[in-house]
Amino acid sequence: MSNILVCARFRPLSSKERRNQEDSVCIRCIDSETFILKDEKEDDFTFSFDKVFYEESEQADVYKFLALPIVRGAILLAVWNCSTGCSLLWLNIVTFMCIPRSISKLCLQTGAGKTYSMEGPGILECDEQKNGLLPRVVEGIFHSIRSSDEVIQYSVKLSMVEIYMEKVRDHFDLSKDNMQIKESKLQGIILPGVTEITVLEPAEALQSLSSGIVNRTVGETQMNMVSSRSHCVYIFTILQELCRHRRVKSGKLVLVDLAGSEKVEKTAAEGRIFEEAKTINKSLTALGNVVNAVTCGLQGKLNHIPYHDSKLTRILQDALGGSSRTALLCCCSPSTSNASESLSTLRFGVRVK
Ligand code: ADP
Ligand code: MG
Repeated sequence: MSNILVCARFRPLSSKERRNQEDSVCIRCIDSETFILKDEKEDDFTFSFDKVFYEESEQADVYKFLALPIVRGAILLAVWNCSTGCSLLWLNIVTFMCIPRSISKLCLQTGAGKTYSMEGPGILECDEQKNGLLPRVVEGIFHSIRSSDEVIQYSVKLSMVEIYMEKVRDHFDLSKDNMQIKESKLQGIILPGVTEITVLEPAEALQSLSSGIVNRTVGETQMNMVSSRSHCVYIFTILQELCRHRRVKSGKLVLVDLAGSEKVEKTAAEGRIFEEAKTINKSLTALGNVVNAVTCGLQGKLNHIPYHDSKLTRILQDALGGSSRTALLCCCSPSTSNASESLSTLRFGVRVK
């Protein structure tokens, strides 16, 4: 898939990893695209990505490289479609960790920096340096619209859903806890009845996002006391209207913070947490299969792409493939103790490229 940008990001060692004397940094930088990872058995693995963000990287660097071209694309590249009055460009940013080769090996480690990259320390914190992708994307959307030359009216709509145990729940209205996913000729993949908040300025968007984030289902594991057990999907729909010609163009931007699914035995997870991990693993396997099918050039043969295997891939159907652009950020811990999880994350990233 040529429209896909795959990057890796290593967070700094955590204080726990720093305290552990047997632990050390397992990656060696070669350049801004290539590094070597040494696993527990001292074997070396060389990886190359479109870009590697090492621990000293700034949130702004990640945004500029990964997200800004996609944000601009959603607004500027959306094309007019005279016959229907509506056209679509599906774009998305997926922030995630890993898809392993088999279910038993599946791990998408928590504590790797996915949420930090997406949200920063907090959506409403307004720390120019630490702000994550979401507040920057919001800024970017409004900035691009306002600097557009064409005389237009615009509206930005925001939905936020989570996929938890294969159920799609509306973050803005928790009573909608098992939403259907449908496909419409004009709009592509839709969630009938989903709450769409029209936001007129960045501050409003951030306030809405913040209220949605509070509702995220979190569970506790030993790996990470507040590890997210659901995939969180942010959907921005940007409508631009050229008043004179009554033409509308529409762009869609989807961001996903994937659920953590570290190796089950590592977290001593049981009962509900075990069930959650199995479900998460299944949907991540489906995502891996879809991305592989798309990468292998099965695009023309839609039937061969198993979008229907999970809610995650179904929601992302028009964001993965077609004319959409996708960026993946594989977030990893840099420590030896997490090397095997990092390896499987990175292998997934390489396979997608
Ligand atoms: P995940 O969402 O993958 O489970 P988090 O984003 O919650 O992981 O990150 C785990 C911890 O590491 C958090 O305390 C977070 O603040 C910290 N962290 C992650 N990435 C970075 C980074 N690039 N710089 C500084 N701290 C980070
Ligand atoms: Mg997280």
